[in-house]
Amino acid sequence: MDCLFCKIVNKEIPADIVYEDENYIAFKDINPKAKIHLLIVPKKHIERFDKIDNYEDVKITSWLFNIAHEIIKEQKLEGCRLQMNCWKDHGQEVAHIHLHLMSGLKLK
Ligand code: AMP
Ligand code: ZN
Repeated sequence: MDCLFCKIVNKEIPADIVYEDENYIAFKDINPKAKIHLLIVPKKHIERFDKIDNYEDVKITSWLFNIAHEIIKEQKLEGCRLQMNCWKDHGQEVAHIHLHLMSGLKLK
């Protein structure tokens, strides 16, 4: 599958990984819009949140918040923006669900 984030999950292309477990990975955004800008990604290829049609994928997506919370605690972040863009017309460039975790000033 020609998916950038699947390639990162499969270590076919490099990323600056800050968290990984069996089902999720988080890495630094290559074009950060804040001092800290991470992308939290399920290893399962789910294209877009607004088209999910089963509870399992909703649960998988919900857990992204749990990982964001763990990273926030671990890195002692003060304030953040959590953002998920859903489909091209709403700013989703990579069609593999991901949660943006941004923290620090310089937010655009
Ligand atoms: P979105 O627009 O919500 O789909 O977010 C996609 C994000 O992926 C953007 O913020 C990009 O800067 C980021 N991105 C694109 N390519 C890479 C890459 N190779 N490694 C890390 N982040 C990337
Ligand atoms: Zn994918």
